[in-house]
Amino acid sequence: SSLSDNQRYGGQADGQGEYSPGVQKPVKAALVALVRNEELYGLRKAMRELEDRWNHKYNYPYIFLNDKPFSEKFKQGVQDMTKARIEFGTLEPESWGYPAWIDQNKAREERETATYIKGRSESYRFMCRFQSGFIHRHPLLSDLEFYWRIEPDVHYYCDIDYDPFVYMKQNGLKYGWNIAPTEYEPTVRTLWNATETFMQKHPELIPSDNTLRWVRDGNGKYTKCHFWSNFEIVDLSFYRSKEYQLFFEHLDQAGGFFYERWGDAPVHSLAVAMFLSKKQVHYFDDIGYYHPAMSHCPAGSKERGKCVCDPQEGWAHGFQCAKLWRSI
Ligand code: GDP
Ligand code: MN
Repeated sequence: SSLSDNQRYGGQADGQGEYSPGVQKPVKAALVALVRNEELYGLRKAMRELEDRWNHKYNYPYIFLNDKPFSEKFKQGVQDMTKARIEFGTLEPESWGYPAWIDQNKAREERETATYIKGRSESYRFMCRFQSGFIHRHPLLSDLEFYWRIEPDVHYYCDIDYDPFVYMKQNGLKYGWNIAPTEYEPTVRTLWNATETFMQKHPELIPSDNTLRWVRDGNGKYTKCHFWSNFEIVDLSFYRSKEYQLFFEHLDQAGGFFYERWGDAPVHSLAVAMFLSKKQVHYFDDIGYYHPAMSHCPAGSKERGKCVCDPQEGWAHGFQCAKLWRSI
């Protein structure tokens, strides 16, 4: 009846007490975004939704990072959205820009001739390299066990009545995702080749229960399957591991962040495929989510009263790479 529905959805979440702001949480975790001052209002919208849907009960802190200092307007503007703590950081110089070995003329030529999305942007490439190799090593994240990556202008469609960080920790999960598209070929022309070279150099780092069959088809070709990393919940010990770090350094040496436009999504995903087993990776099917251009809306009846989206329009569940993941 509607009365029991009201009781079910109106009161406290079942079995998950509240965590007050400032009080020690069961998991050291935070909501983390790299973001620009100009994106204040897009970020406020995303925070408002995440607070209303989830974090007002859990009060996990936020960490915002920027290649430039945050303005006072930005700091106040985001703090107005939450009673949780917010930390603001700028980036270490070596984590943003060109490493010494990159041929900047070659990088410029690629930008001037690229026709793929964001192909002409230099800062976008700095961003992808930062999110691939440096975010998890930022000093403000040093005592975190998990992060949940957020972005401006995203939507959270559903109430989330449990703590995904606790869920991941209790179940030994390292990587959580909810949209898995196929990457644009022109942005990753040699990424698979560089990954194969890495695996030949370091076979000892690849466990036998890996998930490479998701990114490598029956003919040894790259499927270009990746998790869309604008939403990801990750045990940071995965990115801080020796094998992840070696993989990033190998890719960084190869130069594809600049000579192509390798994204942090395919980089993170190739690392998942090489280093993690299927049972260490979780599909957050119940977290309804939209990022400009794609969305995931849960289809299950238990989400019906908790989500505002139309499951018919949350098409990402049917993506080829999402289906392939579920089938491997
Ligand atoms: P897309 O999702 O691939 O289209 O890329 P976005 O433009 O959304 O960028 C991904 C994330 O990095 C977002 O949180 C942006 O706010 C952030 N970002 C992108 N470029 C920059 C930049 O130059 N400086 C800073 N501080 N943040 C950036
Ligand atoms: Mn984005």
